[in-house]
Amino acid sequence: MNGPGPAGRLDLLSPASAVFRLVASYALFLSATAVNAQVTGAAQVPTLRQLAPGVYAAVGDTGRGSEGRPNAGFVVTDSGVVVIDALASPSQGEELLRSIRSITRRPVKWVVLTHHHPDHHFGTTVFRRAGAKVIAHPDRQTLASEGGEDALMADWVRVVGLDAMRGFEFADKPDREVTGTDTLLLSGRSFVITHPGAAHSAGDLMIWLPKERVLFAGDLLVEDGVTMVVDGNSEVLLKALASIDSLQARSVVPGHGAIPSNPRMLVQRTRTYITDLRSAMRAAVERGTPMGRAMAGLPPAIETRPVSLDSRRRRNAVRVYLEEERAYMGLDSTP
Ligand SMILES: [Zn+2]
Repeated sequence: MNGPGPAGRLDLLSPASAVFRLVASYALFLSATAVNAQVTGAAQVPTLRQLAPGVYAAVGDTGRGSEGRPNAGFVVTDSGVVVIDALASPSQGEELLRSIRSITRRPVKWVVLTHHHPDHHFGTTVFRRAGAKVIAHPDRQTLASEGGEDALMADWVRVVGLDAMRGFEFADKPDREVTGTDTLLLSGRSFVITHPGAAHSAGDLMIWLPKERVLFAGDLLVEDGVTMVVDGNSEVLLKALASIDSLQARSVVPGHGAIPSNPRMLVQRTRTYITDLRSAMRAAVERGTPMGRAMAGLPPAIETRPVSLDSRRRRNAVRVYLEEERAYMGLDSTP
């Protein structure tokens, strides 16, 4: 999509439709602080952390869960750079590219997308223009994109601001699709790219560097252990967590927040949260407790902050209640 003219933009931004979708959909909000920082053009440079020789995490915000700027990463090989996720807007993508340029002048060959939520891929166009090809799962459907791509873009302009979105085009259609496991080899580096199932979203991919024992987990992991399954499935997430454990990674980069000093503890924290939630919702369904009452102990979701900790907890509870209800009725709960 080449940028619509101002009139088109105004139509897309009609408050009634946009506000409805923001509340109803899985639009991912950055907080007002981050939005204002972007609108006013304040520097949003990711912090680079070297996890192994040539392997970098670009760390976004910490301590703000899914509301913070996401993490990304990149790996420098002799023949070029592989980028993992492209951040939330063209301007964030440019900051990431500048960070890469502070380390190497080699060309960016590939961008691998962990999934198709806008905060992880809306900067991809910057890398495509620089000559990179995209590796992603072909299923780009998310709840946030239910209203179509124009609506998603308009919603996102409201989140990050027009300035940050300048030059935006959808660039997440894969040149190389991964639906199972695919190994990318580049100048002696191996990248094992795996679809763990629809755990956090339909198009989830994990990127594993077996020699360096580094995993880029995308939003399968969030620093506070409360992974969203609203676009995915809790049972699939538990299986994905087991496969993450089996890798015995030295470093794991979550989709948002601090890189854990002990990856197993973050996986365990996530597993405990999901397992407890499933048990509670299963018990409620078996007792015939209506969903509303089953949610009574949870703080309310915050309408304007759909991925705050409280909102994630409540929205996940709704999703998992429905999963358990389907299972109880004998319907297949796993997509
Ligand atoms: Zn996500």
